[in-house]
Amino acid sequence: MTVSLSGQKVLVYGLAKSGVAALRLLRQHGAHVTALDARGEDALGDVAREVKSLGATLVTVPAPQGLLESQALVVVSPGVPLALPELRAAAAAGVPIWGEVELASRFLESVPLFGITGTNGKSTTTALTGELFAKSGRRTFVGGNLGRPFSEAAMSPGDWDALVVELSSFQLEGIQTLRPRGAVILNLTPDHLDRYASHSTYGEAKARIFHHQRAGDFAVVNADDAEVMGLARQAKVPVYGFSVTGKPVVDAPVLAGLAVAEEGGFRLDFQGEHYRLNNRALRGAHNAQNAMAATLLARLGGVSADAVQAGLDSYPGLPHRLESVRVLDGVEWVNDSKATNVDSVLVALRAFRSGLWLIAGGKGKGAPYAPMVEEGLGKVKGVLTIGADADVLAQAYAGRAQVHACGTLAVAVEKARELAKAGETVLLSPACASYDQFKNFEDRGDTFKRLVGAL
Ligand code: ADP
Repeated sequence: MTVSLSGQKVLVYGLAKSGVAALRLLRQHGAHVTALDARGEDALGDVAREVKSLGATLVTVPAPQGLLESQALVVVSPGVPLALPELRAAAAAGVPIWGEVELASRFLESVPLFGITGTNGKSTTTALTGELFAKSGRRTFVGGNLGRPFSEAAMSPGDWDALVVELSSFQLEGIQTLRPRGAVILNLTPDHLDRYASHSTYGEAKARIFHHQRAGDFAVVNADDAEVMGLARQAKVPVYGFSVTGKPVVDAPVLAGLAVAEEGGFRLDFQGEHYRLNNRALRGAHNAQNAMAATLLARLGGVSADAVQAGLDSYPGLPHRLESVRVLDGVEWVNDSKATNVDSVLVALRAFRSGLWLIAGGKGKGAPYAPMVEEGLGKVKGVLTIGADADVLAQAYAGRAQVHACGTLAVAVEKARELAKAGETVLLSPACASYDQFKNFEDRGDTFKRLVGAL
């Protein structure tokens, strides 16, 4: 139910991108807004100036006694844990506590929402689903945890025919009524154990994506993932599964999508229809999963088969995820800087056959590198190490592939240029965080693209 916020006291907790977007939305609706953040005015800089120019009051943590309890509503940014004592106290005093996406959804109830969650592949699936809906001519908002905060869509509800929204587990914790017409859970692997007491609480947060669905809605799940299938039991709407292994979990729901590997990519089957998936931006079995999820959301959401195929073909890919940068003298250079852990490197390696020169290293996360060494046998000709964990990587690869200690990305790119022959691939897929040498993975990937562009 849409709420009237005019003249009401509302507190926004957390002033990152989503919090600020929520604040703008609340001001548009005439609420009296107090903004609370752990950073003081100086640290907030431009954000503090914007908060003030919007006519909101800025308060720094710790909040004065009773401030939260005196509000009509508290809106929480996804970065702020709902378990904080002051939030619990406000909830106990009867103050509604909404996540930023819940707030936005209250103004968008008449527009169909397609929600995407999972541990990995959310952003890719969200961007791709957005592409499929856009190809059908629908005015499509794409955002949420990726790109634009959902509250931006709510600033102009009349602009949209479809909402494609990435929902993290943190965002899903803060929903009360948000209702996806189509909801996807892609996969579930251990993550965010710093914020969740256990793996099962993390899964429970993801399952909330199904909780407010109603007749006419649908759920889409990865039928190859037993844990996801367990969560799917909480859905009260028709559940459609997809499989890329051809061996779905036994008690799978309607198996509506199957990805079959074929020469040059995958074929996606949906209820007797066939789609080609040979777009370079979507290579690898993991992307076949993401594409299956997007295809089911779109077809069940009313997008035509032709528009789906057109979108699968035209999807440009997201930067830093198996991003093809350049083909130079027959060598392809691929930027997979987003691969900050070993699992991500595994899915990247599976997307290639052979002739790989792997640039890896950085701030290691302590997980063993052995699985990526094994996965790369017969594929990875050599590894070019960079960053703080270079020696640990070199030890893992000793005797299994050539090792070239390069130290920096610039040296690694130069060395790879010498080594790689036509038909081979240079893959930056570091298995490590970047912040020993770069600001973040985007900075690392952009640096790689610049270096490769200059060759
Ligand atoms: P998220 O938004 O969930 O982090 P992304 O689409 O940005 O997901 O992908 C992040 C990384 O996760 C990719 O670089 C890739 O290594 C891995 N990945 C993507 N899709 C999948 C998938 N379906 N299953 C497993 N891993 C995936």
